[in-house]
This record gives sequence, C-alpha cells and structure tokens, in this order.
Amino acid sequence: MSASTAFSTPVPNRRLFGPGPCNPYPEAQLALGLPLLGHLDPEFITRMDAVCDQLRRVWGTENARTLPLSATGSAGMEAAFVNTVHPGDVVVVAVNGLFGERMVEVASRHGAEVVRVDHDYGQPVDAERVLSAHPNPQMICAVHAETSTGVVSDIAALGAGKGDALLLADCVTSIGGMEINLDEWGVDLAYAGSQKCLGVPPGLAPFTINDRAFERRVEKPANWYLDLGLLGGYAVGATGGQRTYHHTAPTGMVIALQAGLDRIEAEGLEKVYARHAAAGKMLQDGLEEMGLELFAAEGHRLAQLTTVRVPDGVDAAAVRSFLLDEYDTEIGAGTGEYAQKIWRIGLMGHNATEANVTFILAALKRAIE
Ligand code: PLP
Repeated sequence: MSASTAFSTPVPNRRLFGPGPCNPYPEAQLALGLPLLGHLDPEFITRMDAVCDQLRRVWGTENARTLPLSATGSAGMEAAFVNTVHPGDVVVVAVNGLFGERMVEVASRHGAEVVRVDHDYGQPVDAERVLSAHPNPQMICAVHAETSTGVVSDIAALGAGKGDALLLADCVTSIGGMEINLDEWGVDLAYAGSQKCLGVPPGLAPFTINDRAFERRVEKPANWYLDLGLLGGYAVGATGGQRTYHHTAPTGMVIALQAGLDRIEAEGLEKVYARHAAAGKMLQDGLEEMGLELFAAEGHRLAQLTTVRVPDGVDAAAVRSFLLDEYDTEIGAGTGEYAQKIWRIGLMGHNATEANVTFILAALKRAIE
C-alpha cells in the first residue's frame, strides 16, 4: 500500500547492502535534521570550504578546484566530459562494466571520437591495452571501482603512461572506502558520489580538476549548470575569491556530507579503509565457504562491493525479494545480461562491519535454501 502522506506509514528501516545508496553514517543522518542555512550565509560558506578541504584529503589532491556538485555521480561524469571534450577529440575509454559503457555514451554525446577498449566483465582494466589503443588521445578514462562487476583497476598504471592526454577517473564507488591518491597517480580530473563509501545520502557529486585540465577546458560548454568556469566562484575555496551566486546550493546536503567526512576523518582514513577491507574479505570468504562462486577476478576484487554468481536453479530475483520482505535487507541484482546471473552485495561506509557480514551470510543462506 502506498503512503498517502510522508508520515502516514513508517518508512521501512532497510539494511541497504546493495550497490548504493548505503545506510548513511549516523552523523550524516543526524545532520539532515539540523536547521537549514541559506546558501549565502557566512556560516554555510565556511562549512562549504571545510568540505572542499576534506574532499581534497580523501582524494589525495591539492587541486584548488575541488567541490561537491549539486547532483548525483552521473552529473560528475557529464561535467567531466562537457567541460573538456572539444569536437573531434579522441577519448579512449576503458570499458569493463556498465559505468565504462556510460562514459562511452556521454563522451560521444559531447562530440568525442571515442576509442573504446573492451574487457571481459569481471576483469580489471588492462593498462597496456588502453595506453596503446591510440597514439595521441586527448583523454583517457577509466572507472576505478566498477560497481557493476565488483572490480578495482589500477589507475596509477594509466597515469604513468598517459603522455600528453588528460586522465579521468570515476571514483564513485572508491571514494571513502579505499585509498585514493589522485595527484600521485597522475589523475587530472575525477568525480564521485556521496551515497556510497562516504556514507551520505545520494545527491552530491564530489568533483575535482587540476590546472592542466582546467586550462584545456571548453570555453563555453554546452551545459550551463555544469560549466566549471562559472562554478569556480560557487565554492569559494576553489578560487580563493568571493563566493558568487551560481545556483542555490543544497545546503542541507552539503552539511550532511560534512558530517560524513568528519566521521571518516575522526575514525582515520587508514582505519576506515581497513574496516572496509576486513568486512569485504570476511564476506567473500564466507560466500565461498557456502559453496558460492565469486564473479570478479581474484586479486582485483573490491572489498566494498562483492559480486557473486547466482547458483544454478536459484531464482535470483526471488532471493532478493525474500531478503527484502523477511529481513528488510536490500542486495543488488547484476546489470544488463547479468541481471539474473549475479548478486551485488555492498558493505559501504557505516555498513562495512563484521556484524553485518555475519548477518548477510546467514540471511542469504536461508534465502537460498
Ligand atoms: N559510476 C559508478 C562507478 C557508479 O557506481 C555509479 C552509480 O552507481 C555512477 C557512476 C553513477 O552515479 P549516480 O547513480 O549517483 O548518478
């Protein structure tokens, strides 16, 4: 039965163990109930600056132009291409899952001549093949943590051989869950999302771009809202100047992001990453002990998002419905042709705990029986 008003029936308290969003850190959830600030309030501006600094630290970058875009991760992808692709630019895209596919689509829409380098799903990006796909591309793009397949790829290997090209990394599922060193790795621009390992609801897309990429940008991109030239003044820390109005900042969401980042920094980045790694390992070992087969290539598995093959004779969707109905627990289906073939189990942000692993293994066992 659907709710007639927001409060007429309780919103179910789900365990969000799918590919995102995950359950926010309690601090981020609490922050959503704080009083709302105006977007030009000095108090808000100070907090926005703090968030940009925190994002730099989590990302391992000194880029002045680092800010949360007011939209989801896909807008980060769109911003990356609309601001940097000049008509006819050669853009090499490593495709090893759905989000690489999306990069191909978005880059082509902005007039790029896309050279796609396909990989089997479940495999990491092969840097050698990607780097030799074209002698002189303007841009090379890859997904750091491919959420559709549960695979991590070596972005530093692309940075080491990128030559004059710009390197774009999708960090939607990696940010806040594993170490990222954009500057050291040679990444020129990157985007992320708030709703995964940062442990904040969906709605913001952290974005960063270095001077090298910014100088090569399209002067007047075909998208006003995501024009980084105009957005420079929106986040004061990005320019060192006066904050100028561009659009109304989602102030409540920015403060929720601040709370999520505060929590991560209070725990300590290394400890947060170790917590994700331990939970992921325990889950993957437990699934194998149950006789299930992991999908992502060994040695390249994400801890925060595990992909597992649906056993023969088991109805993948029925298992997901059982978990939702009986245990208020969401896990993800595969994407595209893998919809019935794999499940995706996310243990991101606040959810990356051993207690949750114990729970999901037991629940899944019951669901499959
Ligand atoms: N890139 C990756 C790796 C993702 O996992 C996602 C979302 O799941 C996106 C991009 C798109 O982000 P959003 O759904 O927030 O627009």
